[in-house]
Amino acid sequence: MYSALKARRIRIRGTVQGVGFRPWVWQLAQRHGIRGAVLNDARGVLIEAWGENTAMDAFLMALNKDAPPLARIDSIEQQPLERGAEPPADFSILSSRSGQTRTAVAADAATCQACVDEIFDPDDRRFGYPFTNCTHCGPRLSIVRDIPYDRANTSMALFPLCSRCQAEYDDPGERRFHAQPNACPECGPLIWLEGTEAGRDADRQAWRQVIPKAAQLLRKGHILAIKGIGGFHLACDASNEQVVAKLRGRKKRYAKAFALMARDLEMIQAYAKLDDQSSALLQSAAAPIVILDHRGKRLAPSINPGQNSLGFMLPYSPLHHLLMAELDSPLVLTSGNISDEPQCVTNTEARERLGGIADYLLLHDRDILTRLDDSVLRVAAGRPRMLRRARGYAPEPMQLPPGITEPPKVLAMGAELKSTFCLLGESGAVLSQHLGDLENASTFREYRQMLAQYQKLYDFQPDLIVVDKHPDYLSTQYGRELAQQNGVPLLEVQHHHAHMSACMAEHGLPADTPQVLGLILDGLGYGAEGGIWGGEFLLGTYKDCERIGCFAPVSMPGGVMAMREPWRNAYAHLASAFDWSQLAEQYAELDIIAYLKTKSLANLEKMLEKNLNSPPASSAGRLFDAVAAVLGLCRDQVSFEGQAAIELEALAENTVEISVYPLILQNNTIYWRDLWKAILEDLTQGVDRAVIAANFHHSLATGLARICLELAEEHRVETLVLSGGVFQNRLLLENLTTALEQRLNILIPQWIPANDGGISLGQAIVGAA
Ligand code: ZN
Ligand code: ZN
Ligand code: FE
Repeated sequence: MYSALKARRIRIRGTVQGVGFRPWVWQLAQRHGIRGAVLNDARGVLIEAWGENTAMDAFLMALNKDAPPLARIDSIEQQPLERGAEPPADFSILSSRSGQTRTAVAADAATCQACVDEIFDPDDRRFGYPFTNCTHCGPRLSIVRDIPYDRANTSMALFPLCSRCQAEYDDPGERRFHAQPNACPECGPLIWLEGTEAGRDADRQAWRQVIPKAAQLLRKGHILAIKGIGGFHLACDASNEQVVAKLRGRKKRYAKAFALMARDLEMIQAYAKLDDQSSALLQSAAAPIVILDHRGKRLAPSINPGQNSLGFMLPYSPLHHLLMAELDSPLVLTSGNISDEPQCVTNTEARERLGGIADYLLLHDRDILTRLDDSVLRVAAGRPRMLRRARGYAPEPMQLPPGITEPPKVLAMGAELKSTFCLLGESGAVLSQHLGDLENASTFREYRQMLAQYQKLYDFQPDLIVVDKHPDYLSTQYGRELAQQNGVPLLEVQHHHAHMSACMAEHGLPADTPQVLGLILDGLGYGAEGGIWGGEFLLGTYKDCERIGCFAPVSMPGGVMAMREPWRNAYAHLASAFDWSQLAEQYAELDIIAYLKTKSLANLEKMLEKNLNSPPASSAGRLFDAVAAVLGLCRDQVSFEGQAAIELEALAENTVEISVYPLILQNNTIYWRDLWKAILEDLTQGVDRAVIAANFHHSLATGLARICLELAEEHRVETLVLSGGVFQNRLLLENLTTALEQRLNILIPQWIPANDGGISLGQAIVGAA
């Protein structure tokens, strides 16, 4: 009898744990009359299955499609089960085979449609309940304290399941089978509203009144701090300029655009242009902020000063859905912090730090254990491009490039400004969520805590630690310290090589890939032999690379000051390309010359001459700063890296270029004299600054494309990697890809940020290679 049965061992890899995969397999087994078992182990999901020939074929087929919504299958392998193994009487879900098993932690997921339907159904027991979730949705990483991922190790441990929730949790046929954060109004967390002066003013039992009341306060023009999934938000009515401006002032955030939340796609469409890819991103389980072009009705101008774009997201928790259902216009929903501090996560922190910003606090008693900012993407050059990778994406592992087998365990420390770290092991590379600027003391503290937390979650002891070459990065110094403490080797990876490698790995280039060409444009990074880079042509592999071209280095008078004050770069660029006094005379009538003359240029001149605190940098970021300043944008200062470039792009966006400014290439170095000459001439002729900005983007792309082609031909390479933070500039990226896509195979970061948020992944891959 048994001999007629087919017996198979099936190994499934990918994101298959903590996402309802085992109950799904169980249901398939029931449907196809399969006996056996399914379990999680260190490598993914393992199935042992016995069944009739045709039933087994159908079962295997079904495994290949319709996986649960949050699962991602990387591979399915099967082999015959060894003889002698007896089939069990039925199909069961085993918790684990040995004590070794660790269920991987998944990313937080937006509320699924079935749960949304429940919270709006007056007959459902979860009607109006803001913590509704199931196996296919809800918080994950944000509530985990330890492994294995089960309720006792999450912040839901404080809420014992009621009998009805427990029954759902125990039944493999239920949508809430093993849903660790499962809850209902009877047993789960609750919300309440606090007036910042009155203290807690709501009775906990009155939770049903909380959301309508909060909506009413928002409509009246109040600012609310709202506890979300990965941290607190500050919220206000996005159509009310007065309150948005007030929020900007209180938050001390003067330039960065505020994110928005809309009830649905229809509401977004009233204010912004929506394409299919952006809609899909907005509606995905990660529910990120998606940057869209403004079109249609206007919102408060203080939302996005100096920009045409708007960052929208859709409700991703039941609380958001319930709140947005009460409102007829979008909400500003910006991170709950003061200027550049990390977002608050605890109620106590929120009372202390947001009390002076928010008029009321909408709180709940489910603790946030891992802070996760909202992720940010934008569609550019035909694909989604990650700008900030956090909630909904972290800690989703990335598969290793083919050919990197049995790598050492590599811990990569990342860069500094947009810091992340990366744990690489046999089963993939886990990139942490965006953590922020390490120069901020509380961010650095959190970075160290998170690193410890991830090491615990993944039981990770590194064999190798990788750091940036920059000796002053706090991540480098900390990595050095850890390497010493743990007695493991330390490897330094050059910043732009890491940018290039991260992109190569994301696109799955195998370990033995021949040399590729990389055009890496960013703010600043430590060069191979010291010196500061940021506009580089690289030729290399994962293992090593050399610089074969660059932007002409221009001094940054004042060092760090030059990063904050774009006029310094404008002066340095002009003074390096021309004789300043001649130039000042020839273009005396231009306002940039008049402006620069108000600065103490003699001092600057001395600094440049004596090379005092004026490091030369081949930086693309500083070139954008200089051009922006010359055109009158952000001359005095920027309040965040990239602001001048963002405003320059916005200025150019809705205009068509009319001329191409020449770049000079000598000994594989690009000089800007002719480009500056053309810009100054256009300014003298009274050409619209928007047109000049467009000309600049177009000219840069045209010139860079030409050089890429020449270098590719000279070195016989067909693949070009474009990476570095400057490629967040859509105009430049699209101009460049249009010019090159017929000629070269172009790789651009997609799900891994092109900016320094992707550095740790690149470092880890170089370390493994
Ligand atoms: Zn759900
Ligand atoms: Zn319950
Ligand atoms: Fe960089």
